[in-house]
Amino acid sequence: MFCARCNKPSGDTDKCSTCGTRLKTLESAKRRGWIGFGAGVFLVIFPAAIAIWIDRLMAGQTAPGTAGFIGRLNLAFVLIAVSGALGMINGWRQGHSGRTNRAIVIATVVVFAIAFFLAYTASNAYNPS
Ligand SMILES: [Zn+2]
Repeated sequence: MFCARCNKPSGDTDKCSTCGTRLKTLESAKRRGWIGFGAGVFLVIFPAAIAIWIDRLMAGQTAPGTAGFIGRLNLAFVLIAVSGALGMINGWRQGHSGRTNRAIVIATVVVFAIAFFLAYTASNAYNPS
């Protein structure tokens, strides 16, 4: 069995003797890891596809601010891909051991938040009309 709260395997059968949380099977903890891994793969591929699409869409645009907008947006996409890669690393490890790596999870959230903020300010700053 596996305690998601203590983040470690447990010899108990129903509830964790350390924290009292209902235990999950190690298999379900690993399955969650692989789901996280899949989400990470998606976060790497998805922004790359969008970035290519936007670059084509914006090609030939000469409105002021376009270059800065694309630059910032591309940076946001790179950061989203980085957070996806971190999610893949964590998911891969969790898929094998059941454990999550808290440091990686926090880094993933922070990087994703920065990317989201960048994309938000980029679209705010861009005003082609
Ligand atoms: Zn516990």
